[in-house]
Parts: sequence; C-alpha cells; structure tokens
Amino acid sequence: MTNNCQTLKSFNVIAIDGGAASGKSSTSRRLAEKCNFLHVDTGSHYRAVTYACLEKGLEPRETSELKDVVRDLTFSTRICGHEAQICIAGDQPLGNGELRSPEVNAQVSPMSAIPLVREAVKTYQRQQVEVARLKGFSGIVMDGRDIGTVILPDADVKIFLKADPAKRQLRRQLEGSTDAIGDRDKRDASRATAPMKAADDAIIIDNSDISLEEVVDRIVALLPGSDA
Ligand code: C5P
Repeated sequence: MTNNCQTLKSFNVIAIDGGAASGKSSTSRRLAEKCNFLHVDTGSHYRAVTYACLEKGLEPRETSELKDVVRDLTFSTRICGHEAQICIAGDQPLGNGELRSPEVNAQVSPMSAIPLVREAVKTYQRQQVEVARLKGFSGIVMDGRDIGTVILPDADVKIFLKADPAKRQLRRQLEGSTDAIGDRDKRDASRATAPMKAADDAIIIDNSDISLEEVVDRIVALLPGSDA
C-alpha cells in the first residue's frame, strides 16, 4: 500500500506522541516529506531549554534563579527543508552535540516536569501551526509526549506510537547513545503536569515489527480526505 497525499484537505494537523525511541521523529520526518508538512520535534524544545539552564549551572529545581533564566529565554524558528528548528536567543539552532549530550539526556526529563518550563514553551509550540501555514506547508506534524492531550487537542489525527522496550533500547544503542530511555519514560508518564499518555481519541500504532513506510502509510490513510 502506498498512499499519496494529493486528495488531502488543504491544511492538516497531526499529533504524534510516544515514549523515547518509539520512532516518533523518524515517522514524523518521513510523513512531513511525503505530504509536505512542517515537522516540529517538541523534544528538541525541552532539550534546548535544559541545555540553556545547564549552561547557567542550574539544576532541574523550581528555584527563583531557574524562573528568571527561563523567563528571559526567547524562542524563534529556523526552517530547514521540512524541519522546524528551535533557536534560543539568536537565529542559530543548537546542534545535536548540544541537544543530545549525556548531560542533557540525564536532565531533560526532570527539567520537563517543572510546570514553569512547560508553560515557557507552550505558546511557542502552538504558534508553529501558524508558522507552517504562513510558510505554505500543507500541514504540520508535531511530535512529543503531550501533543494530542495538551498542545494540539483539536488535531485532525492523533497517533500514539509504541514499540517493544528491548527494540527501543537497541535503536538507541545503534545510534551510539547510552540514553536511559526506560527511566525517562517512567518519569515522563508519572509527572503531575502534562504526563505522557495517549489521548482518548488517539490511534495506537505498535511499530515493533512493521517498517517505517508502513507506519507512515497507515497514518496517511487516516488523514481527512485520504483516498486510501
Ligand atoms: O523526544 P525526546 O526524547 O527528545 O524528548 C526529550 C524529553 O523531553 C522527554 O523525555 C520528555 O521529558 C520531554 N518532553 C516532554 N514533552 C514533550 C516532548 C518532550 O516532556 N512534548
């Protein structure tokens, strides 16, 4: 089955949530290329804030220093192909070396559990829909942990991706990462504010044993106006 995106409505909003290494980013990226959507990886937003706070020597605790630093952060977007990249204080996005360092991997989950950190990125994340429209994309695909539940509750299609934990750990190892994804998932799912969970109207897709193309095709078939 190979769906094309010719018959879709003029602008589509897709939310993809799931745990660490569940395939959200690869799926969103491929979907964005296939259907001319803008891809917004909200994990990179929390990673950028975490990096900025760690640079200032701050720990993930709700202190007045953290509040001041986070309040003063300014976010903008640079678009590269179908990818929306977050820039903090300037027009240069942070690179993978900064966003995916062992320090950021270790602190991003506790940092993201702090309500003021989530508030700081919420408006910016919602504004990306308008960015996608203004830049002429046919839609937006945003991935994260709370996109279908909190950030874009009216999305046209909501997906929650799952995969076997051993396969997810292997994916990270093959990328050369020592990220403790199981610990992050536990924290992300149990925090009080915007915990990771599937929206009531999300479609659950387990991608343990199916190819990326098949996952993307299944999602395209769910989009309003799809001819599949
Ligand atoms: O997607 P990624 O693994 O890069 O996300 C890094 C971390 O950012 C997650 O473990 C989670 O703590 C946080 N996050 C979040 N809400 C989102 C996206 C990411 O809390 N929407």
